[in-house]
Formats: sequence, C-alpha cells, structure tokens
Amino acid sequence: MRIGRTLPPAAAPLLLSNLVSGLAGWHRGTLESKRFAEEIKAVHGTGHVFLVSSGKAALYLILRALKSLQPSRDEVLVPAFTCYSVPSAILKAGLRVRLCDIDPDTLDFDYACLDAILTSTSAKRLLAVVPTHLFGIPSDVTRVKRMVSGTGVKVVEDAAQSMGAKVKGQRTGTLGDVGFFSLGRGKALSTVEGGAVLTGDTCIAMAMKEDLRYFGHYSAMDVIRLVLQAVVLTFFTDPRFFWLPKALPFLRLGETHLDADFPLKKMSGFQAGVARGWQNRLTTLCCVRKCNADKWAEALKHWKGFRVPKVCGDFSFLRYPLLVMNPERRSGILEESEAKGLGVMQAYPDSLDRLDVFAQSLNLVCCAKAQAVAKQMITLPVHGYVNHGDYQRMNDLLAPYD
Ligand SMILES: *Cc1c(COP(=O)(O)O)cnc(C)c1O
Repeated sequence: MRIGRTLPPAAAPLLLSNLVSGLAGWHRGTLESKRFAEEIKAVHGTGHVFLVSSGKAALYLILRALKSLQPSRDEVLVPAFTCYSVPSAILKAGLRVRLCDIDPDTLDFDYACLDAILTSTSAKRLLAVVPTHLFGIPSDVTRVKRMVSGTGVKVVEDAAQSMGAKVKGQRTGTLGDVGFFSLGRGKALSTVEGGAVLTGDTCIAMAMKEDLRYFGHYSAMDVIRLVLQAVVLTFFTDPRFFWLPKALPFLRLGETHLDADFPLKKMSGFQAGVARGWQNRLTTLCCVRKCNADKWAEALKHWKGFRVPKVCGDFSFLRYPLLVMNPERRSGILEESEAKGLGVMQAYPDSLDRLDVFAQSLNLVCCAKAQAVAKQMITLPVHGYVNHGDYQRMNDLLAPYD
C-alpha cells in the first residue's frame, strides 16, 4: 500500500460550493432536476432530456423504449472493447449483445467488420448500434448513421465519456437518434453518480417517458449516502489524500464489473444541485485535459515502443490511451506506476468476447483486435492535478527503452 502523493487515473473534482448547491438542490427537489434538464437541452439544442441515476440506467431506458417501438428486434451491436456497464444495461433490458471488432488506431468500430454485420441476413434482429466515444475520442457517428439508413436500426450514441466534446461544431450526445452521458465519478463531469439521455426524436422520447414511470426516486437514505460520497470525492480526489480511499478495498475504486443488477432511479435534486454551474466547470475541465493531453502527445514523439491513437476533432481525452507493444514492459510500467502513484492504469480488463457470460452466446465472434488492445492499453491521467513533477516522473517511467 502506498502512502503519499497518488494521482487518480481520472478526476472531475467537486468543490465545496458544489456540495452546498447540492444540499440546496435536495431541498428544491424536482424543480432542481428540471432546471438541470432544461440547461442540458438549451446547451445541446435538443428536444428532450431525461435525468436518471447512472449512465447504465440511461442506456437501459433508451433500449427499453426502442424495444417497445420495434418488438421484433432484440440485439444490440456494441464495440468489443468498451465499458462493462454497456453489456450490463443490454442484459438488464432483456436484449442480446452483439459485438463488432474495433480499429486499434481510432478505438472506434472496425468499419469493415461493422459493414459485414449490417449487411448480413441476421441484421434483421438488430435493434440498435452503439457508437462509443471511448476516452472522449469521437466515434464517427455520422458514418454509422449513413450505414444503417433505411434498415430500421437505431443509432444510440454512447457519449458517457465525452460530455463537452464537439464534432464539426455539433455536440456529442446529439449525433445519433438518441444519446447518453454518464455523470459518474471519473467521467467528464460528475454528480457523484448520474446519467442523462438526449434525443430530438419525439417518438423515442414518448416511449422513454412511459418507461420512466417505472423508475423509482432516491429515498432520503439514498441521498444521505450520495452526500457522504460527495464529501469523500470533494476531499479525497486530491493526490495528497487519494492514497487513502485507494487503500480501502471495499470502495473497489477503478474496478469494473458486468452486473445487470443495478438500480433504476430518477436523478435526485441533490445531484442536479451538485451540477449547478456545470457549463463553465465543464469548459474548464475539458480545457485542462486538452492541455495535458497535448503534453503527453508531445512527449510521445520522444518515447518509443508505443502506439498512440490517430485522432482529430474538438474534444478532450478523459484519460490518454496508448498501446504498449511489449507486454513485459507494460506490466513493468503498471507496477512502477502503482508504486510511485502516477495514476497509469489498464483500461478494461478484457474485450467483451472473452467474458464468461457470453461464452454460450451463439452470435459471438472472436474480436482479435479488441483482444489485443485490451492486452496492450494503458491510460495516462490528464486531469488538472497532474503537475510538473508528475510530468517528470512520467517521463522517467516511459522514456527508457531498449
Ligand atoms: C461509464 C460508462 C458507461 C456507464 O455509465 P455509469 O454512469 O458508470 O453507469 C457507459 N459507457 C461508457 C463508455 C462508460 O465509460
């Protein structure tokens, strides 16, 4: 266990003022959630916004609505390397997961693979395809929309990690038929936990409104738990103190699980209150992340043995992903980072085609590139706590090469 300066892999720190506005929001209740939803609508220029308890819950709501509109379809196509919350939501919605391999250079779909799936006879069962802005890197949603046009397959934009980004001037979250953000910890903006669904499609919005009636409210005890978590986030995201929550195994920081048993709730006034002033906060957070990612990109010109994503667009990385070509070197880097508290992490433990729950699945194809990416990827922190000393130590960690 490390005691002393330890960088979190990702951070959207909460301020004391966010805690205070959260408590005021708790008092205001649904009025506060309405305000937050209206602000998201206005900023994104979208017709409908629904606020829920997590990104998973948001995706679940979307999928249930789509399913009610097209009951004969029951499969959801996702990239084989993504957050485990995605298949969790699909399974909870009673649907089947289908996988598409990814392109290691962009971390977006392998479009040849996507084309083969969409033009196969089994595509009739596809309800939706989920382009994902992994680590904030924009996926080519427009291309996916073009590929599915006329097939009835809906495009669900997973913008869980990319709130604040734009593609050709248009905000992520509004590029597909329906999209969602996560407001969990470690995301672009955090309200402790939370999710937002955005759509301009009235038909889908009506169906979601119907399903939202089955979502519960946060009880007083639930909100107290959120307040306590917010206090911990406010004080312990700071690298001077982060070693403490990291050392507590029951917090299970940084772990990711496939678990279809998660709560479905409407966002509380407390969470919406914590978000108050989010527009400026998000702009600042994204700006800092962009600046730090540029530094890593510059340093990587001198570091050898890595493969870096080829990306463009107006976005900021949530974490900076790179592929380490030599597996031994990768384990060495992860170990040394752990010992030095540098916040370098693996991404997701494995590609989805390798998970046991899908072992029985008929439609499961092997996704070789996603598997390789899972074995090679590390991410560097880009949040505002990364300082010059950290930069030097990261250079000492990543520059040596033989
Ligand atoms: C975090 C995340 C989700 C789910 O969000 P939660 O709020 O954690 O449920 C979905 N997709 C991606 C890509 C994510 O990173």
